[in-house]
Amino acid sequence: MKNIDIVIVGGGMVGLTTALAIRQQTSLSVAVIDSQELHSIKEQPHLRVSAINNASKQLFTNLCVWDDICAVRSQAYSNMHVWDKDGYGHLDFDQSDIPTGSGADNLGSIIENDIIRNALWHKAEQDSGIRFIPENITSMAVGGSEVFLSFAEQPPIMAKLVIGADGANSWVRKQLDMAMTFRDYDHHAVVATVECAQGHQNTAWQVFLPSGPLAFLPLYQQNTCSIVWSLPPEQAERIKALSTDDFNKEILAASDGKLGNIRLQSERVSFPLTMRLVRDFVKDRVVLIGDAAHTIHPLAGQGVNLGLVDAAALAQTLADICVQGKALNDAQALGHFSRWRKSDASEMIVAMESIKQGFSLQQTLPKFIRGLGMSLLNNVASLKKLLLKQAMGSRSDLPKLCKVQDPLA
Ligand SMILES: Cc1cc2nc3c(=O)[nH]c(=O)nc-3n(C[C@H](O)[C@H](O)[C@H](O)COP(=O)(O)OP(=O)(O)OC[C@H]3O[C@@H](n4cnc5c(N)ncnc54)[C@H](O)[C@@H]3O)c2cc1C
Repeated sequence: MKNIDIVIVGGGMVGLTTALAIRQQTSLSVAVIDSQELHSIKEQPHLRVSAINNASKQLFTNLCVWDDICAVRSQAYSNMHVWDKDGYGHLDFDQSDIPTGSGADNLGSIIENDIIRNALWHKAEQDSGIRFIPENITSMAVGGSEVFLSFAEQPPIMAKLVIGADGANSWVRKQLDMAMTFRDYDHHAVVATVECAQGHQNTAWQVFLPSGPLAFLPLYQQNTCSIVWSLPPEQAERIKALSTDDFNKEILAASDGKLGNIRLQSERVSFPLTMRLVRDFVKDRVVLIGDAAHTIHPLAGQGVNLGLVDAAALAQTLADICVQGKALNDAQALGHFSRWRKSDASEMIVAMESIKQGFSLQQTLPKFIRGLGMSLLNNVASLKKLLLKQAMGSRSDLPKLCKVQDPLA
């Protein structure tokens, strides 16, 4: 039976980042379990993309994968335009709003998830301390001093700590019956790639429609955007079933023509949206991170950014544990990690809920107050900077790997 210090179940963006971050800060041996193969990058952009904020960019830079990601393709955006379809409120951000000292030269970047995953995977392959197990686990038993993991083909392994980074429907979370709060957002997100006649203008666009938000995320071709259109499930089905011509007409009207004529360029795929938050990120010798621990509405593009901070925070916690010569499952250190990450995730969930609820009110008075609020935010520089700081992932309690590193330190 093979002994490994840390087993990470799930080699998605969060799991792989965790493996690299742990290896950068400790000499612990790591295994990553995931049977999902890498997807090759085609000319047509992949449908799943992420808005990567400055904290995540810094993390990838510190792990030496940012240049690899950008070498494939990514699109930085220097403006954001958010507006209320049925009201008069709007919010605009540009480079001049970037908080000083953030080290950022743009508001964020839109990157296909597969490009990020591939870059992380290839970097991890170069580290002999990271082993890949391309197979599903058949059973997991948590003992007093180890966790036993069995596979159909591979010999079993024993780990001191297991990290569940296996996504929203986490197998690890279910095995340990870890308590979780969840709520159906009653929205499905329809994603697709579209061509916009007036180009994206290096801007992330989002309109709040009575049915939910519609985002246009700029892709590497100047006239192409990835859309995320969140709607009640039956309306999402209707949007997916429209003929291409009708879809183009409907999205043109929804976007108030701000990007010019729009033409669908891909299939339309939808994802049900659910809020999830585990009561505790840690149980016995198992830690949950990323979507396995929390899922939020994509309206602010923060889900994976939150998970990447989990990855950096957990690596930092484990590095501190090693320096102090404690056991990897040290209850005090992992308890602190759990509270740290839960507080961040809870804040984000509340923020998403407030935005979603705030924009769903259609009576005259709430619409008027919403417009007033947006105008106020748009005109008060200090409030705008505060909001942008949140969106860019800047906060006081970021783990070291998510900050600009002092080359002299
Ligand atoms: C429509 C939409 C748009 C979004 N846009 C953004 C955005 O702009 N910005 C942003 O920050 N976030 C965004 N998100 C959220 C983001 O996509 C997720 O937060 C992110 O993908 C989670 O990463 P993860 O690595 O935790 O999980 P996943 O990406 O789900 O990866 C989990 C991995 O675990 C593997 N796995 C699963 N089960 C097992 C098992 N039993 N054994 C081994 N491996 C297993 C899977 O194969 C997979 O590789 C969006 C989400 C949606 C739905």
